[in-house]
Amino acid sequence: MSEFDVVFIGAGPGGYTGAIRCAQLGLKTAVIEKDKTLGGTCLNVGCIPSKALLDSSEHFHQVSHDLETHGVMVSGVKLDLKKMMERKDKIVSDLTGGVDYLFKKNKIERLQGLGRLKSETEVEVLTSSGKTETVKAKNIILATGSVPNALPGVDFDGKRIISSTEALSLNEVPKHLIVIGGGVIGLELGSVWLRLGAKVTVLEYADNICGAMDKQVSKKLQQILKKQGMEFHMGVKVTSAKSDGKKVSVSFETLKTGESQNMEADYVLVATGRRPFSEGVRLDAVGIEKDQRGFVKVNSHYQTSCKNIYAIGDLIPGPMLAHKAEEEGVAVAEIIAGQSGHVNYDTVPSVVYTWPEVASVGKTEEQLKAEGVAYNSGSFPFSANGRAKALGTTDGMVKILADKKSDKILGVHILGPRASDIICEAVVAMEFGSSSEDVARSFHAHPTLPEVIREAALAVDKRARQS
Ligand code: FAD
Ligand code: NAD
Repeated sequence: MSEFDVVFIGAGPGGYTGAIRCAQLGLKTAVIEKDKTLGGTCLNVGCIPSKALLDSSEHFHQVSHDLETHGVMVSGVKLDLKKMMERKDKIVSDLTGGVDYLFKKNKIERLQGLGRLKSETEVEVLTSSGKTETVKAKNIILATGSVPNALPGVDFDGKRIISSTEALSLNEVPKHLIVIGGGVIGLELGSVWLRLGAKVTVLEYADNICGAMDKQVSKKLQQILKKQGMEFHMGVKVTSAKSDGKKVSVSFETLKTGESQNMEADYVLVATGRRPFSEGVRLDAVGIEKDQRGFVKVNSHYQTSCKNIYAIGDLIPGPMLAHKAEEEGVAVAEIIAGQSGHVNYDTVPSVVYTWPEVASVGKTEEQLKAEGVAYNSGSFPFSANGRAKALGTTDGMVKILADKKSDKILGVHILGPRASDIICEAVVAMEFGSSSEDVARSFHAHPTLPEVIREAALAVDKRARQS
C-alpha cells in the first residue's frame, strides 16, 4: 500500500495549491481527483471559462457599440460563437494541463478516481473502471468543493433549465434567458449572453442584487446593468419552471403582494447559490461532523472532528472563492509542516466581473453601522479620472471607509473599469494596517485608474484635488 504524509481529496484551487505547498515543504503528497482534468470548479467550469467568455463578449459588445466614439468605424460585425467557445475551451485545457505539469514538477502523485474515507489514516480510490486502491496517509485534507444549489420546483434538465456549467457552453445565443438569482453568477453569465444579443431577465428574491455588496454600489451597478438592457424583477419568488424541450415556462410570485406571474424563455439559468459537496467521501465512516447547511465543521487549524483529517475551501464555511480556497490550502500545508499557517479573513477581496466591475475588501457601510463603528468615508468618481476618460469608460467610483479616530482603512469598494486589478492595492494596504493618509501620500503613476484610489483616500480627509 502506498503511504504519504499528506493526501488531498479534490484538485480544485484549495487542493492543488495546498498540495504544491506541501511538496515545497518536503512532505510526500498525493492528490485524488475524480474528474479527468485537474483544477476543480474554478479552472474547468468556474472562474476561468466565465472570465474567458466575459472578455470575449465584452470585445464583441465594444466593437459593435462603443468604437464609434473613438472614431473607429466598423461594420458587418459577426459573432462566431463556436470559435468563441473553442477559445474558452483552449484556455481551460491549457490551464488544467498546467496543473498537471506543476504536479509532475513538484513530484506530487496524482490518483484518478473517487476518494472515499476508509479510516482516519486510509483513503480508498475508486477508479472509473471500478477498480479500487487504498492509500495510507498521516494527514488527509478534504477539498471537495461545491456544486450548484437546486431550487424546489425547478429541476435542472441540463438543456433548457441549466446551471452555470451548461451556461458556459451553450451552442446558440438564447433569444430570452431568464436568470434566477441576481448574485455574482447570474450577473456575470447574464452579462455574457446579454452582450452577445440575448434578452436577459433576472428574477431576484431580495430587494438588492448581490446581497452582501455595499448598498450604494449595488444600487449603482443595477442602474448601469439596466441601462445595458438587463431586466430585473426584484422581490420575487420563483415557484416553478417547466420545460417542453424548446421553451421554459417560469412561474413566480411577488413577495409583497403575493401576485403570481408567468414568463417564457428558451433558457433558464438557476444561479441561486452553491452548496458544499461531500457526497461520496464517506464522512460518516470516521464520524466527521457537518453543520446544518452541510459545511464540514473545522477549528481554526482546519481540523475536522478527526484531528488528522482537515477540510478547506468551499467545503467549509466562508466566502466561496478560489483565492480563499488557495490560501486555506497553503495555511493547512504550513500547519501540518509545523509552521504557523494563517488566513486573514478580514482582507479577502471579492469581485464581480460585470462591466464595469465591482471589487471590494473589508467592511461595508451597512456592516460598520450595524457594529457601531465610527468611520469617515471618502469617494471619488471615475468620471473625473484622466485615464478612465481616455479609455472611454467613466461609470463608477471608489469609496474608502476609514476608522474615525485612527484613520485605519476598514473597507474599500470599487465600481469601475478593471476594479478587479485596482482592488489589489487596497488589499495590500489593509494587510499592512494602512491609514487612508498612507495611501493618499503614496505615489500613483499618472494617468492611471488607481489614481481614483488615491483621490478617494484624500477625500476621506475632504482634500480630494481632482473634483
Ligand atoms: P472545487 O474547485 O469545487 O474543487 C473540488 C474538486 O474536488 C473538484 O475537482 C471535484 O471533482 C473534486 N472532488 C469532489 N469530491 C471528490 C471525491 N470524493 N474524490 C475525488 N475528487 C473529488 N471564485 C473566484 O474567486 N473568482 C471567480 O471569478 C469565480 N468565478 C466562478 C464562476 C463560476 C461559474 C463558478 C461556478 C464559481 C466561480 N468561483 C469563482 C468560485 C470558485 O470556483 C470556487 O470558490 C473554487 O473553485 C473552490 O475551490 P475548492 O478547491 O474548494 O473546490
Ligand atoms: P450568490 O449567493 O452570489 O447569489 C444567489 C442569489 O440568488 C442571491 O442574490 C439570492 O438572493 C438569490 N436567490 C436565492 N434563492 C432565490 C430564489 N428562490 N428566487 C430568486 N432568487 C433567489 O450565488 P451564485 O451567484 O449562485 O454564486 C455561487 C457562489 O459562487 C458564490 O458564493 C460566489 O462566491 C461564487 N462565485 C464567485 C465569482 C466571483 O468571484 N467573481 C463568480 C461566480 C461565482
